[in-house]
Amino acid sequence: MATNNNRVLSIDVECVATSYTHEDRSPCSVAIVDDQCQIIFSSLIKPKEKVVSDLYILTGLHIKDLEQAPSLEEVLNQIYPFFDSTTIIVGQSPKNDLKWLKLEKGVHYSVVIDLSDWFKSYNARYRSMSHHSLAHEAWTLLNIDLNATNGHLATQDAKAAMQLYIKYKDDEAGKQNACSRLLNTQPRITPARAHNYNYEGVCLAGYYKQMCRCNRPSLVND
Ligand SMILES: [Zn+2]
Repeated sequence: MATNNNRVLSIDVECVATSYTHEDRSPCSVAIVDDQCQIIFSSLIKPKEKVVSDLYILTGLHIKDLEQAPSLEEVLNQIYPFFDSTTIIVGQSPKNDLKWLKLEKGVHYSVVIDLSDWFKSYNARYRSMSHHSLAHEAWTLLNIDLNATNGHLATQDAKAAMQLYIKYKDDEAGKQNACSRLLNTQPRITPARAHNYNYEGVCLAGYYKQMCRCNRPSLVND
């Protein structure tokens, strides 16, 4: 049982699609990484709902890979002991991850650190805030290619998030510098973009309003 006060954990959840909008998702894998960048938990998750696409280009998983996986409830029972009311959670736009894992403030964590807020910056060209993807942050700031494998592994994403946290948590000037590097570096082509933000009929533009064809609200923070 975890009882460390103020333990910092990064989390990442990957999802398959249960219907065709960018909101219709069900968790298929989860990883938790500690502040030593060690993977302390990872598991596949068997979706309860019918899956319309495994989103292979994003998840690297096929539906059959999930057949023997534990249910979400079973996984949650395994992960809750890692969290307590003092846990600090780090992630890239972790709002949805928190929702999938049913993590509650005051019970499972005290503070959430959202890296997409750390590295956002005002983009004069579009007259709006630019949020970057974790893949762009990892490539530009850590020289790690999260798109190198087929699909994002939750373990690799959670590790990269923790590395970014460790690298910049006590370096405000470095963070400012990182923001301008991110803004001035052309993002590489992501799997979603390579498929024009639509895979097997499923909208992949949850974080890219301009390409969304399903008309559900954007997942980007305001
Ligand atoms: Zn959409």
